[in-house]
Amino acid sequence: MTKKRVGVIGGGQLAWMMAESAQKLGIDLVVQTPSLNDPAVKIAAETILASIDDAIATTRLVSQCDVITFENEFINLEALQPLAESGVCFRPSLNALAPLLDKYHQRCYLKEIGLPVPNFMAIESNNSEISEIIEIEKYFSLTNPPYPLVLKARRHGYDGQGTFIIRDRNTLEATCKRLERLPLMLEEFVPFERELAVMAARSATGEVVIYPVVETYQKEQVCRWAIAPAEIPSEIDSEVKRIARHLLEQLQVVGIFGIELFLTQDGKVLVNEIAPRTHNSGHYTLDASKFLSLKCS
Ligand code: ADP
Repeated sequence: MTKKRVGVIGGGQLAWMMAESAQKLGIDLVVQTPSLNDPAVKIAAETILASIDDAIATTRLVSQCDVITFENEFINLEALQPLAESGVCFRPSLNALAPLLDKYHQRCYLKEIGLPVPNFMAIESNNSEISEIIEIEKYFSLTNPPYPLVLKARRHGYDGQGTFIIRDRNTLEATCKRLERLPLMLEEFVPFERELAVMAARSATGEVVIYPVVETYQKEQVCRWAIAPAEIPSEIDSEVKRIARHLLEQLQVVGIFGIELFLTQDGKVLVNEIAPRTHNSGHYTLDASKFLSLKCS
């Protein structure tokens, strides 16, 4: 019997980390990635050497694989749409990914499905006319003093690249100007008590599996450590898991997501961000959570 093949768009460490489980399941991985030095090239049965948003190259990937998945969210959904329409099996589906790739659209979607998120708004003009700055300050003053605020690039951010804590009006103006080519959003600064994260997966038959909630610690916006399971009251644990299940079920997604959250000082849980893929807060599951891993497969 020929082995099943999963095509992975992206060949970084997250694709590399899929190798062990893929092998156990008797699956070969084929990766699409721009450099032979990328980590997953070593474990791939074959490599399509191309940038991850090169949809023509993805056509070649598709011709060799049974199903296509993603290692990161820096993808070009529009370019992949014709492949989906011709019946290519993307997991997660492009429809499930569509509301999540742009941080502003993601926030709008989370709010729409009733999940708790920090206050946020898109920035209309990066040249930040003074009148817009005043509007921004007014909007955020409704709940708190307007600063600090958090300015985020709507796409292609990771490890805090593209996330800026803004402490005053001058910095807001200067940073918007410096980033004038990028679509941006602003949100309230959440003086969280702790950051939490959870990995949640949904199967093709709709079964949802949620890994233990972890506490994460970010320094300069980069994750330094995670404690699994997080030492949190059971009602917070249940709330995080409710959020994870609700999201996966609303999207009817097949795949695994990393969900990052803030726990506020008054015990509220807010969703910070959804990573529509595996995530650094879930690396520990490679060596732990064996029972759950088996159940997931
Ligand atoms: P990235 O997508 O680059 O990981 P995030 O939006 O997750 O960026 O932000 C990285 C880190 O910055 C978070 O883990 C958190 O520590 C801090 N951060 C982000 N947004 C806020 C916010 N609204 N309030 C307080 N801290 C924040």
